[in-house]
Amino acid sequence: MIPGILVLNTFWWASKSQLESDNTLRNYTILNTTSFAAGILNNMNQTSKVQAMVDSLIAEDSSIQELTVYKYDGMYLNPLASNLPEQLKYRLSDLDSIPAWQSKSTTFSFAGTAKDGKEVRTGNVTFPILDSNQNSLGLIVSVYTFADSDARQVNTFNLSIIILFAAVTIIVLLLVNYLRLIESSVSLDKLREVDKMKDDFISMASHELRTPLTAIKGFASMLLEGRGASFDESGRHYLEVIMGSTTGLEGLVNEMLDVSRIEQGRLEFRFEPIPVSHAVQQVVDQLQFPANEKGLSLVHQPLDPDLNLNLDASRFRQILFNIIGNAVKYTEAGSVTVSYTQTAKLLTIQVQDTGIGMSEEDAKKLFSKFYRIKTEKTKEITGTGLGLWITKQLIEKMHGHIQLTSKVGEGSVFLISFPKV
Ligand code: ADP
Repeated sequence: MIPGILVLNTFWWASKSQLESDNTLRNYTILNTTSFAAGILNNMNQTSKVQAMVDSLIAEDSSIQELTVYKYDGMYLNPLASNLPEQLKYRLSDLDSIPAWQSKSTTFSFAGTAKDGKEVRTGNVTFPILDSNQNSLGLIVSVYTFADSDARQVNTFNLSIIILFAAVTIIVLLLVNYLRLIESSVSLDKLREVDKMKDDFISMASHELRTPLTAIKGFASMLLEGRGASFDESGRHYLEVIMGSTTGLEGLVNEMLDVSRIEQGRLEFRFEPIPVSHAVQQVVDQLQFPANEKGLSLVHQPLDPDLNLNLDASRFRQILFNIIGNAVKYTEAGSVTVSYTQTAKLLTIQVQDTGIGMSEEDAKKLFSKFYRIKTEKTKEITGTGLGLWITKQLIEKMHGHIQLTSKVGEGSVFLISFPKV
């Protein structure tokens, strides 16, 4: 609608301005002829003087194309002076056909003449010369060309069309942008809705999966312990496979539950003073078995046993299990060392491995949800890519910070810092 209004406004303004300009031109030509008539009124008997006045006005005003003065001899109007010599040859005899002569008042009309192959508008003024008793003495015929003023009008019109075009283009562009913005905000809302549905589904599915999983795991473990029934070698092997798979599934379900709790802001922390070195030692002890199986040395360089941090005990264990567990998981040979550095305000736990390492690019994306590095060395190792994302969220929610330096083939160093109590 706005572009439409602008277009209409431009054309309305153009036609109004044309009308005003025509009016001004008309008044100017009549006024000019009137003042010329006043000048020659007392000189009608002196042809050369009238001719000189015609020449002088023509020289002054370049818009006058023709200026002819006729003198009445009682029957005809005879040419007295003119800027066009050929007009001096013809007298006007059909006086009835000249409205200005008949009505004894000035007439004005627009007409068109061809000039340099172009149609040019003219204004024709016919002015009866009357003495003080309203007796007709003669007639002035003048023709004004409007070429210059019309050209100016056309230029102004063209300029306003250009401005109009630019304004309409800008408005259309703004409109398109605005529509795009609306579109993307609608799709953003839809995306949020779908994301929420996904969160709800994960939360519901994880809860529903956990109950039967716990039952399967519990009964399989009882059967393995020899309670309820006895199995031969292959029966025990199948039970061990069931246990292994359910433990893996349980880990996945717990990770999914954590993700949905974090995303829905439902995670709760019970802060209490934790003896850091002791907590780390417990995790290292539990990971000693898988590390030994791979032939790795897992070393803990303990800290002052009385140094406590204000943390949630089970979430802190989860963080340590993930970082130290990953170090064991992604190291083929060599060692994993857990040590500490501290400043007055911060305690930093350093987990260093001699594992497969990673590129700078991978290190940047490592803490994103579901991100796993795909190389020849990692393709056999199973995982979800959720562990580090959850770990980072937990650390930050407990006012800590995690950092990483790594080199492909040389190993990685994870630094976890927490404020001291
Ligand atoms: P997951 O181990 O289940 O794949 P994580 O979020 O714990 O998920 O880890 C994401 C990815 O980071 C892993 O797939 C692995 O490629 C890489 N990674 C984590 N820790 C190490 C490490 N100590 N050395 C090399 N790569 C690692």
